[in-house]
Amino acid sequence: MRIALFPGSFDPFTIGHADIIERALPLFDEIIIAVGTNIHKQGADAMSQRVRSIEALYREEPRIRVVTYNDLTVDLAEREGAQFILRGVRSMKDFEYERDIATTNRMLSGIETVLIFSDPSYAHVSSSLIRELRSFGRDASALLPQANPHLKS
Ligand code: ADP
Repeated sequence: MRIALFPGSFDPFTIGHADIIERALPLFDEIIIAVGTNIHKQGADAMSQRVRSIEALYREEPRIRVVTYNDLTVDLAEREGAQFILRGVRSMKDFEYERDIATTNRMLSGIETVLIFSDPSYAHVSSSLIRELRSFGRDASALLPQANPHLKS
């Protein structure tokens, strides 16, 4: 079984995240979406609410599971038997950040990180952008995934 862990804050889960999942599904037998707390980011949506909405999105996809965690990603990967960490890259800034984390995670545990480049049409999408729009009372639903018509039941 090739199992990938897709860790993130997902506050909220965006069309950019959904695109990464959809494109990574053919590579793995199972993808575990791991909702964590980022010590550098202020949480907006409660953890349980984030989990519920991601679960609802992938209800029909048995190869996707959602978990929460608040320890090191590599420790969770070990607990879950995941051999890979999956991450998305939108920009040079993401790239350098992801490279440092991937190198550290490999140093800590030997686990490999698989990076998928963002679709150019989603490269501007971020959870923080959605939180900002919402804070000004704007509708951000165009940046949120709907029940995914591409996924088989
Ligand atoms: P974190 O707090 O760990 O950065 P995020 O929820 O912000 O978690 O993002 C999780 C992963 O998804 C990260 O690898 C991030 O680079 C990636 N990601 C976020 N938005 C997009 C997007 N629009 N396109 C592709 N990847 C994205």
